[in-house]
Amino acid sequence: MPVELREFAEPDLPVGGALLRTALSEVCGTDVHLWHGRLAGVPYPIIPGHVTTGTLDKARGSLKDVQGVELREGDRLAFFDVHRTCGKCLACTAHRTPTRCPSRRVYGITDSATEGLFGGWSQKVYLEPGVVVAKLPDRVTFEDYIGGGCGLLTSVHIIERSKIVMGDTVVVQGAGAVGMCTAALARKAGAGKVIVIGAPQSRLDLSLAMGADEVIGLDVSPEDRLARVMALTGGIGADVVVEAAGSPRAFEEGVRMARNGGAYVIAGHYTNTGDSTINAHEHINRKHLDIRGCWGSEVGHFLRALNILDRYRDEIPFRDIGARRFGLTQINEALEVAAALAIPKALVDPWS
Ligand SMILES: [Zn+2]
Ligand SMILES: [Zn+2]
Repeated sequence: MPVELREFAEPDLPVGGALLRTALSEVCGTDVHLWHGRLAGVPYPIIPGHVTTGTLDKARGSLKDVQGVELREGDRLAFFDVHRTCGKCLACTAHRTPTRCPSRRVYGITDSATEGLFGGWSQKVYLEPGVVVAKLPDRVTFEDYIGGGCGLLTSVHIIERSKIVMGDTVVVQGAGAVGMCTAALARKAGAGKVIVIGAPQSRLDLSLAMGADEVIGLDVSPEDRLARVMALTGGIGADVVVEAAGSPRAFEEGVRMARNGGAYVIAGHYTNTGDSTINAHEHINRKHLDIRGCWGSEVGHFLRALNILDRYRDEIPFRDIGARRFGLTQINEALEVAAALAIPKALVDPWS
């Protein structure tokens, strides 16, 4: 479904509400799925753009960041796109899986435009009371933050789920923002060797700059990719394999790349792309393989992403993932470029 421009009136803010003046938002893989209508339960029409950064335009009453510091107009902010997580349900409490809270909503994805400015492909974004807001660290530019974007938040969660320990060999399937950021963080988490599998070559080159040691292109056949991973791991397979590709074929390939007793973290299947076929005896049971899903992100991942950007922005070229800017009138072109994987990531500058 094509994206069209609509004008909205500025909302009357409730006490504790605020408006963000958007500096940059992004086009991520989820936005391409939304554009194709491949996500279930989306309350169209929506304003896409779930991870977004900008300055505080105005607030009604006192607005504090997550650490309790009072915010002022003009402060450079990021906000956590997930809101209304209830903190009371089974998922939030007993199961400790707040990303599975049924009340949870996400800016730009599960918030309808009929309710207001809940998305970043807009000059201003409504921050409803209770949304977690953080000041960007002084050194972190808008470009740094949005270059990592939702992929960085997801990869912080992936690293937590992967339980990587120093010296581990890590395979990352997929060279999008999630895959590249996961390669970077796996390196910083102490991985001994990081191997990224993906395409096109420009993303593989950037993966190397982000921290990968080896890259394998999708022009190499699946059999040869597996043989290459085995050769790079002394014939035993990787300690940790991360799926950030979103293909049922990647899952079939990834279980074969993990070593006996290794771990496989699945983060790329945000939409249902169909069934995979694996042999439970050969690839899970006998292999003693640990398979872990990784859904969404939590406030802690958002805040750690800011710390990571602050500490490593000079070393890891997060900003280079955000390759090109598009204005609101160029959004359909931005989506086409993103769908074709022509550049690492398209950015949205709604004021250009
Ligand atoms: Zn995203
Ligand atoms: Zn809940």
